[in-house]
Amino acid sequence: MKRNVFSIRPAFSPVLLLAILGCQPKPAHDLVELNRVIPDIVLDIRYATTNNFVGEALYPSARCFLAKEPAKALKKVQADLKQQGYRLKVFDGYRPLSVQKRMWEILPDDRYVADPATGSNHNRAYSVDVTLLDLDGNEVLMPSAFDDFSERAHMDYMDCPAGAIRHRQILHDAMERHGFSGIDSEWWHFNYQGYKDKPVLDISIDQL
Ligand SMILES: [Zn+2]
Repeated sequence: MKRNVFSIRPAFSPVLLLAILGCQPKPAHDLVELNRVIPDIVLDIRYATTNNFVGEALYPSARCFLAKEPAKALKKVQADLKQQGYRLKVFDGYRPLSVQKRMWEILPDDRYVADPATGSNHNRAYSVDVTLLDLDGNEVLMPSAFDDFSERAHMDYMDCPAGAIRHRQILHDAMERHGFSGIDSEWWHFNYQGYKDKPVLDISIDQL
């Protein structure tokens, strides 16, 4: 009996075939580069420099990515703040899991660093670390520096100038108006709504 070649089904799925050949399919993601979504965003990507709490450069370049939805929301925050005489500066966004592991090697203390076994929301590309600039680009007074792991970073810390408390609140309120929520222990850190369901990613910045 003659077989119709068009009815023969492939023995391997494309994904299986790639796995057999030693090629992993590229992980699915919706990461977008922040300065493409918000052209006037100011970046100060500390983990691409030695000016951070680990004292070594953990990123190969000072680029910043977020998932598409939080990136679009951050654009609205920027517009909102500009109407009030401020703009955003970003310290960190998406962080590959391999970088989280390196941070944990250096500082294995979950008061300061998320355990890579569960992952940080930065690994999900749904968290961002930000502060305020004035419209001339000067950083405004805040209750502490970025990555100050003391009580000065707490949202309820009040032993600081009134201007610092006011700026912290302006930032917090603008972020919350557009779908972000803050955390008690770090005034600069915000998670975007829906973050809990998002996968931890380990795509190197160089691959993006
Ligand atoms: Zn953070």
